[in-house]
Amino acid sequence: MMPLMAAYADPRFRPTLWPGTPVPLPEMTPMVGVQAVGDWIVWGVQGFDRVLARVSLPDDFYLRELMEVDPADLETVADWMNRYGSLGGSIEAGSWDYDEHSRLQELEGREHPHYGPWSLHGDLVRLHISEAQAAIATWLACRRPGGLDELVETEVTEQRLADIAAENDHDDSSYPKTLEELRSVTLDLRLALLRNALRYNLAAFSVGLGSLTDRQPSILSVAFLQLYNHLAEDATIRTCANETCGRDFVRQRGRAEYGQNRTSGIKYCTRECARAQAQREHRRRKATRSRPAPAPH
Ligand SMILES: [Zn+2]
Repeated sequence: MMPLMAAYADPRFRPTLWPGTPVPLPEMTPMVGVQAVGDWIVWGVQGFDRVLARVSLPDDFYLRELMEVDPADLETVADWMNRYGSLGGSIEAGSWDYDEHSRLQELEGREHPHYGPWSLHGDLVRLHISEAQAAIATWLACRRPGGLDELVETEVTEQRLADIAAENDHDDSSYPKTLEELRSVTLDLRLALLRNALRYNLAAFSVGLGSLTDRQPSILSVAFLQLYNHLAEDATIRTCANETCGRDFVRQRGRAEYGQNRTSGIKYCTRECARAQAQREHRRRKATRSRPAPAPH
């Protein structure tokens, strides 16, 4: 048996948590009649029946569905909203570019020509999903020795440096001019975006009136509460040992019928993956056994 030890955590991301213990996940309030129409997600006025249907976001939603969705796939996001509730996300969490921020503000205020305010522009969906994915990728990298530097390195190139120089005034000393400076700026930015994603998406759970469920938290709020809980419980992020899967996970899915999900000593993200890998290894052993013995010289 493996000795019990703390999960790896990059020293550059060890925030102080309050409360430092996991927070029970609130239930969610699905929306009704949400659909993707053109470059928008739209819905109608939400009635009282909406409040009666309460559901839970699946375990590890932030590691699975959220990381696997294409940010441009409005149909899938509309489907989530019908299952779990509003998407959430804040334009304050990421962009520090003044023009871009003004553009996003204008998009938030814009109404769909037919559905009016019961709508969300596709650009905002893409922004919220891709910023969430970038933040989660940073968090995952922080849980692997060397992971954060590896992730940052993908953005540290001569080309990127040249692009930044082309966009900036040559007398301006504030932008990075060497790969070393670019590396340091990229690292700081990645960690700042992760902290911001947590800060803005968890804001719904501040001290206040009403249970967390009563506040009808958004999908992204509860997804980042899942991440927060993994941080608080120092969860081990595993990589699925099914060689065609490789997904990051904490809890294996598909074991609920046995009473609870297992979190220790598991190698596969689902029972299907465990079965697929066992069959693959069985076929390999069989092939090895049935191979004819090499002929003597
Ligand atoms: Zn798997």
